[in-house]
Amino acid sequence: MSLLQDLQEAVGSANVQTDSQALAPLLVDNRNRFFGQVLCACFPASTEEVARVMAICHRHAALVFTQGGNTGNCAAATPVVSEADARRSVLISLRRMRSIERVDPLNDTMTVEAGAILQDVRDAAEDHGRLFPVSLAAQGSCTIGGLLSTNAGGVHVVRYGNMREQCLGLEVVLSDGRVLDMLRGLRKDNTGYDLKHLFIGSEGTLGVITRAQLKLSPLPVARSVYVLAFSRLSAAGNVFNALHTLFGPQLSAFELMHVDTIRMVARELPQIPIGFDLSAPWYVLVECEYNDTRQAERLQSAALSVLENLLEDGTLSDATLAQSEAQCEALWRVRESIPSAHKHAGGNVKHDISVQRNDLADFVETTNARLQSRFDWIAPSVFGHFGDGNLHYNMGVREGFDRRLCFDHEEAIHAIVYDAVKRFNGSVAAEHGVGRLKTRLLNDVKSPEELHLMRLVKRVFDPDNRLNPGAVIDLKESIACDD
Ligand SMILES: Cc1cc2nc3c(=O)[nH]c(=O)nc-3n(C[C@H](O)[C@H](O)[C@H](O)COP(=O)(O)OP(=O)(O)OC[C@H]3O[C@@H](n4cnc5c(N)ncnc54)[C@H](O)[C@@H]3O)c2cc1C
Repeated sequence: MSLLQDLQEAVGSANVQTDSQALAPLLVDNRNRFFGQVLCACFPASTEEVARVMAICHRHAALVFTQGGNTGNCAAATPVVSEADARRSVLISLRRMRSIERVDPLNDTMTVEAGAILQDVRDAAEDHGRLFPVSLAAQGSCTIGGLLSTNAGGVHVVRYGNMREQCLGLEVVLSDGRVLDMLRGLRKDNTGYDLKHLFIGSEGTLGVITRAQLKLSPLPVARSVYVLAFSRLSAAGNVFNALHTLFGPQLSAFELMHVDTIRMVARELPQIPIGFDLSAPWYVLVECEYNDTRQAERLQSAALSVLENLLEDGTLSDATLAQSEAQCEALWRVRESIPSAHKHAGGNVKHDISVQRNDLADFVETTNARLQSRFDWIAPSVFGHFGDGNLHYNMGVREGFDRRLCFDHEEAIHAIVYDAVKRFNGSVAAEHGVGRLKTRLLNDVKSPEELHLMRLVKRVFDPDNRLNPGAVIDLKESIACDD
């Protein structure tokens, strides 16, 4: 039987899609910059079906591309292949594996299928009085499998960590169809190498994640949200330290926004009220979550005196405190609308970088200066997770200039930014992953020894390079490797 017939038999013809119109949305990345092609997309409904599909693909030497919500920012889920390879390429979508199987509020865990949508996972945890803390603007469509495969971060990493920190167990289907059951849900287990961590952040290149055991946290009973304004970016580190010292683990978000980025939200999405004065160059949105109301009252009043001191000594130029839950949401909406506002404005040249938190101000100021001295039209749009040392350092075009200029000079902009990241010993892929966008960059940022070991790991799990070929690590690249 052919590959297609085998797949139809394994999951049912209705769950194998070959129609080009129906396939189209699965074959383009979320920024419309990469386009893929496949023989078919498969929609298995269980681990057993995924295992069958993988065994068939193994037998037919088919290429496998796994997809969750297709919200990734590095084209990692787009099957970009040659015409010839398209005839043996299979996209596995987890969209029929969305169950939340079990919530255990006493053990603070939940078990979900990998296609479960983040918002549904958060809602299910909340229904049981618990919190699943990962939160990001794509949470209505991104999946647990995608989040784990990219080790996604989001806006609460400063308190709860990345996806890696939320995962207690995984079930993975290997490239030949064997099922690796690592669903032990243990908080301590030092029985040698912890294999689940290899799959987290591997972007579909080592296996298909089918189920996950996630860690839950206490559900906060109250929160405060502040927007703080300051004139020098170097002040952000001091503000962070002062508030982190005061709030400790209650500090759940510390999100930086440049005033021009906020103005772009106001201009592109006028339905989003800004709710604070825009007279300073830099703003941070700070969130603190409280586990009981007495703690909330005590910390809120202590915060007021810390903020008064920072205003008095000139570190801050303004502070806005949300007075209600509705105002908290309104302030968050400004921060969360930034990606849509960028898209609405025609896009820009994006970087997802991290450096040590105390180097961020220096990184931004020196790199902005280098870019602006080279391109008089450039408009930095800087925002992101200051508390994690991770910024979305994006370059657009000043008003009055042709919007396409930044794309015409994309390579030169990347070169300047990535050179700066390297000088600061930072990361060129802080939270979105490598995908197809940054595969070549790994040659510059990883040592030959690291690259060699990464390729060996890839070969252990995927000896024929059939799982998401072209993403993360390119085995065809002539990277120094002595095997
Ligand atoms: C508006 C917006 C805001 C965002 N904000 C953030 C943010 O704050 N922080 C952040 O980290 N990211 C953010 N992202 C990026 C994106 O949401 C995350 O990368 C998310 O983890 C992708 O999940 P997904 O289900 O859409 O995965 P997909 O895009 O479908 O896939 C991403 C990668 O995971 C692999 N994959 C998917 N499912 C599986 C599986 N079951 N098994 C094995 N591999 C799999 C794919 O092959 C691919 O390599 C944002 C995206 C958007 C559009």
